[in-house]
Amino acid sequence: MNFHIMTLFPDMVKQGLSESIIGRAADKGLLSIDAVNIRDFTLDKHKKVDDYPYGGGAGMLMQAQPVYDAWKSIADKLSQKPRTIYLTPQGQTFTQQMAKDFAKEEDLVLLCGHYEGIDERVLEEIVTDYVSIGDYVLTGGELPAMVMVDAVSRMVPGVLSNDESGATESFEGNLLEYPQYSRPEVWMDKAVPKVLLSGNQKEITAWRKARAVERTKERRYDLYQKYEALQQCREILWKKKLLHMDMIEVIDRGTAELVYADGENICIHDKVSDTYFHTADSMEEGRKMISCVKEQTGGRIGQLVLHQDFMVEPAKEEFDLYLSVACYQAVYTRREKLPVSKLYAGEEPLSIRPLTLAYMDQVLEHYKLVSDPDYIRQVIVSGSLFGAFLEEKLVGFVGWHKEGSMGMLEVFPEYQRRKLGKTLETYIVNLTLERGHTPYGQVVVGNERSMRLQEGMGMCFAKGLVYWMHSKNK
Ligand code: SAM
Repeated sequence: MNFHIMTLFPDMVKQGLSESIIGRAADKGLLSIDAVNIRDFTLDKHKKVDDYPYGGGAGMLMQAQPVYDAWKSIADKLSQKPRTIYLTPQGQTFTQQMAKDFAKEEDLVLLCGHYEGIDERVLEEIVTDYVSIGDYVLTGGELPAMVMVDAVSRMVPGVLSNDESGATESFEGNLLEYPQYSRPEVWMDKAVPKVLLSGNQKEITAWRKARAVERTKERRYDLYQKYEALQQCREILWKKKLLHMDMIEVIDRGTAELVYADGENICIHDKVSDTYFHTADSMEEGRKMISCVKEQTGGRIGQLVLHQDFMVEPAKEEFDLYLSVACYQAVYTRREKLPVSKLYAGEEPLSIRPLTLAYMDQVLEHYKLVSDPDYIRQVIVSGSLFGAFLEEKLVGFVGWHKEGSMGMLEVFPEYQRRKLGKTLETYIVNLTLERGHTPYGQVVVGNERSMRLQEGMGMCFAKGLVYWMHSKNK
């Protein structure tokens, strides 16, 4: 990932970001941090970059010309107009979720203001996002830019040594992190909680979860309320867990936000896939969700997953969505992994590993259900698509969709009938379990072959269907 920081003080950001984890990630080539000096682009012979604001008022403003030319020098080198963030106290407050979203970009331009800010006209021309790091005013955008680079970089795959450490931290699932302890076992008469020395991972996990909830309640009641509301929904959804596993998983993975809840009528939004999920016990009740979602989004939603057929027509009418697929939902309800015997046993050695963008064209060629290259790119970049290789030749793949379901299973025609499909499916079920999630997938109605495969793996099917609705404008 490449950061391009536009600033009047390039040394300040370069020095600040050259040490520790971020510095090492840059040395490894996982990140590049380029500081562009706006002053180098002024046409003023005295190298001036600021002037008085029209209409009077305190202080000076950075002028449009040097900012625009500095930005253009970056944009001209890139294939598309880059996402350009102006650090400003007038922006949306920076969050962990925003850090995750920005980490998916290949290039990010960060514009640091100084003095009283920047001429509005150039901001209108180049800025795509306005971001603040909090409700206070600093003298310049350099510290906020460094804060953002740090938080975003941590979300870039490979920057943190342990993949998991990004996932169990504060703010995941509306919870703060649990308290942590290191050696010695006793310090100032304070002993480390016994359970942490027990070696019983199940008990340790339960203890940590309880402390995280307790701590969030004490220190951030606003977050705790969100957590609690989603847990109550989860209890209701659990009553029909096979049908609702997609919604339960979004809650458990900590990426859900509650849109609407009234008894059995529940709507949540998955922040990662930008998908709305809805369930209701009657059309009359279900319709209430529609007005609520409309109020929150202006009616412009890209994806909606329904769990009852009676909601399909109202959703079509009210949101301008169409029904793209109806699917059976299959859930692997056991905790133990699938056996790895009776799988592919050919002579050529098989290896399964995460795919890189180098395989993008092959994936697009073989995966027929989604043809959007941007979607496939995001799935690959997030490390969610795994390829099967026979002697270094890609012969199939499987992965997780953005909202967490297993899928995208393909075995290339000339390699079928060698149990490679079952091998890939077993791999993804076991990896899902290892990551602490419930394996589930969705089978498009009519795909008998996939149904048989899922049944053969011991997956349980929900009685009802799930309905994927998509925007006509996408
Ligand atoms: N006059 C501006 C206003 O009231 O919105 C404040 C300008 S501030 C003194 C100078 C620069 O510092 C801004 O252009 C911005 O780049 C940066 N800055 C100050 N506070 C910030 C914050 N909380 N978050 C992000 N950037 C900030």
